[in-house]
Parts: sequence; structure tokens; C-alpha cells
Amino acid sequence: MLKKVIATLSQKFLLVLAALLLAAGTAVTFVETPSASAASASCPPQISYGSTGSWVTKLQNDLKTKENANLTADGIFGPNTQSAVETWQSSHLSQVKEVDGIVGPLTWASLNECGSTSVGTVSTPSRSGTTAVGTVSTPSRSSTITFSAGGYTLTIEHADASLQTRVAEIESIFQHSYPKIVQRFALSPTTASKHVTLLFATTYNGSSVSFAETYWSQNLVVANPVQVMASPSGMGWVTHEFTHTVQKYSVVCGSGGNGGTDWVAESLATYGDWSYSPIASYMTFTDPRAPQSTDSYKEGYGIGARFFVWLQHRYSPSLPDQVNHGCQRGTTAESTLKSVTHKTVDQLWAEYAADRSFTIALPLNG
Ligand SMILES: [Zn+2]
Repeated sequence: MLKKVIATLSQKFLLVLAALLLAAGTAVTFVETPSASAASASCPPQISYGSTGSWVTKLQNDLKTKENANLTADGIFGPNTQSAVETWQSSHLSQVKEVDGIVGPLTWASLNECGSTSVGTVSTPSRSGTTAVGTVSTPSRSSTITFSAGGYTLTIEHADASLQTRVAEIESIFQHSYPKIVQRFALSPTTASKHVTLLFATTYNGSSVSFAETYWSQNLVVANPVQVMASPSGMGWVTHEFTHTVQKYSVVCGSGGNGGTDWVAESLATYGDWSYSPIASYMTFTDPRAPQSTDSYKEGYGIGARFFVWLQHRYSPSLPDQVNHGCQRGTTAESTLKSVTHKTVDQLWAEYAADRSFTIALPLNG
């Protein structure tokens, strides 16, 4: 039950998404392009939640000066910076652009920063992995379902009537799981976005093991409807992807994952699936195997999720959360594991692989 994520959010896709949202009557008038140079060569690079670097510091100082924002200019684009950006956008850009917390050419222009001398580089890890598995070109959409419970809203865009059963299941999963996922995994649950968009795109080319991906900077999940219908592995992918939306890591959390994945992002997303998916006829919880000699934490997903359950039981109940929040704040999983356990991840894996008495039962939290 692998769900991978892709490397680049193509400009074309963003424009298609903008067109879709326009067609849906959503209050979107402009979506900034991901590349500042594409839209305006003289504006600083686009930055958003998770970005780090001197342009972030520049932004924070601007917001402190021009908006009197209560921010620390630390060069890390976290929830407080996002909130200050949204406040700025609502008071200065609401006529031309959605309030999205993403600082692209329009937002930079409103801060008088287009034409500024370069202050350095920016790093924006914006997704949960690094492997390109496909492209999105012309998704079609015929209906938008907005489902809201406790202030949480899920918009599902799809074009295939045969998906109605799945749509109902996804709504149910969202209602059951998303508030818990936000509480457990978001860096700041009170300021985290409560809105997720799930876009079924027939032209999104997943693979046999990968039919959905998450753009966490936008709380956007894209899935291939044909593959979703054909999936024999239940609907665990939904909670997995929902977990990705709140991870928003500012570093590659677990480097060296197979196929270029962030093995921790994938492991903890599956951990989220095991912890918060509802128990329902359409859910499949596959008990993961004990590690075999050929296994590695670098496989992520269920292999890595089971490793995290073991770490939690053998070392610290909060270890998955310490790793998760560490990566949101810029500390890699390897560093957090080392500081808590005084062991390297390879040493921990070797201990785990040798621990034949350890068993788990799914789902974890029932
Ligand atoms: Zn994933």
C-alpha cells in the first residue's frame, strides 16, 4: 500500500488548478506561479510554509515593520509567519488574490520587495517526498462536495460518477480522522488549516503502487480515480495522505529513503493511517510483517511505521511525535532519535530487527 509523492508542483498544474477553482466558483482570482522568475524576473523567490533562509528573514522583518507583526525574524517560515502573511494578504491583496499564506510575486510586490537586491537563497521543501512519479495535466471536474464538521472542510473534486461510493467513504474517513490527525501531527493545531482539497485527476499518472500524492503546502491531495477504484488495499491511503497534509516538514525528515522518498514522512503517514483510520468495512488494516533480514527502515510506509511503533514502546511513548515535530522545526529524524536514545538510526533498526518478541495489532488506537 505505497503512496508516493512527486518532486515538482508544475506551474502548468497550478494554473489548471486555478482554472478548476475558478470554474467551481471558489473565491480564487489568481494563483501565484511557483517560480517567481516565471512571473516577474525581479521579484524574490516564492516562499511558503516550511521555507527557510534569508528571504524568509527579509519577509519577517517586512511584516514586523509594515504590519507590526509579533514575529521573530529567524528565517523559518512557520505557523506564526504564515498567519502574519495571511493577515497582510487579507488587508492588501484580497481583491486580486486568494489569502493563502504563499508569498509569491504579488505578495512580494505589495511589500515593495520586487526589484530588491538579492539577499540570498531560499529552501522550500514543499512535499512529502522527492520522487517524481507522474504528471498532472488536464484534470476534469464535474462536482465539488464540501463537507464540514467541527470547522473542518473537505472539498472533493471529481468527474466520475462511479466514484460516489468512494466519495462517501472519504467523507466519513475525513470526519473521523482529520481532527485527530491535526491534533496529533500538526505543529500548531490551533492555527493549522482545517481545509483539505482532494482532486481526482484521470490524467494524474500514478503507478501500481502509487496513486495519490499530497502537496502539503496547499493541503491538496491528488489521486488517480481509476487506480483508486481498482485498489485492492482498502482506503488506508486516504488517512495516509491526510497525515501528509499536516506534516509540512521544513527539512527532509528521513533521508536516504528508497526511491528518493523521505522515509520518515512515509512511515509516519502510514502510522497516521494505522492510528486514526475508522474501523469500517471499506478499511483494510494489513498487519505488517516483522522485519526480515532484507528489510530496511528506508522502505518507509508500513515497514517504517512498525519501526516507529517499536521505538514508541521500547524507548519513549512520545518518540514519533518528537520526531514529527522536530522535522517541522528543522531537526532531522536522525538527530532527534540520537538525542533521545543516544543511538543511531541504524543501531536502533538492528535492535528492532533482533527483537523477536515484539508484536503489534492494528489498528493502533481503534
Ligand atoms: Zn505518502
